Amino acid sequence: MDLSPSPAGWDHAAALADVKARVHVAEAACGRAGAGVRVLVATKSWDTAAALAAVRAGAQVVGESRMQELEEKGPALAEAEARVHVIGQLQRNKAATAVRFAECVQSVDSLALAERLSRLCVEAERDLDVMIQVNVSGEDSKAGVSPDDALALARAVQALPALAVTGFMTIGLKSQVEEDVRAGYRTLRGIRDTALIRSEAGTLPLSAAWELSMGMSTDLEWAIAEGATMVRIGTGVMGERA
Ligand SMILES: *Cc1c(COP(=O)(O)O)cnc(C)c1O
Repeated sequence: MDLSPSPAGWDHAAALADVKARVHVAEAACGRAGAGVRVLVATKSWDTAAALAAVRAGAQVVGESRMQELEEKGPALAEAEARVHVIGQLQRNKAATAVRFAECVQSVDSLALAERLSRLCVEAERDLDVMIQVNVSGEDSKAGVSPDDALALARAVQALPALAVTGFMTIGLKSQVEEDVRAGYRTLRGIRDTALIRSEAGTLPLSAAWELSMGMSTDLEWAIAEGATMVRIGTGVMGERA
């Protein structure tokens, strides 16, 4: 494990303020002024001091991808009362680390993983928020359930003890073509909207599944225009690794 220290002289608070200003402009530009889109700061590969600097700078949520790193940073993040979300592919044998330190696992893409999380949560006598990760672009390299299977998985996960489905997450298409990227985000929003509409009608139990975690530094404006409630930013807040 090779964790980076903060770049010398880096001002996390100023960098986070810049990102939040971009979020506010993007919200206003699409008629969502005051929507309260949250910024998750991806602290993966940064050392404990750097992750704590992000928390002290006002990161509302920090995102960790690798459970070996979370083992190391988790106690200090807990001490700082940071909200930690797991945003990377989670192996079942590492699920205990997530249950120990995370408020939410955004990367649930199989029932087997959810069942493991549920069992661990019951043992630990805690509840856990989860999001369903959806592969909206259909790229083989990307984790996530297919859009067609997302609602069935969400329903099955919601039925498990100790888990609450709070929404849907995706990693967008890596492309400069606005319409192609936005089409993927629109797919995720459609899944979320269907979940809420059917829950309202009483045919799904997903009325709490309103979050849309989508958009990163290169495309947060497009994601917000398509309804993102949370964007995930790494380098823009943490700096460039040495
Ligand atoms: C790392 C990561 C991000 C942030 O990416 P950067 O390139 O560091 O800004 C967003 N989402 C996920 C799932 C990530 O793993």
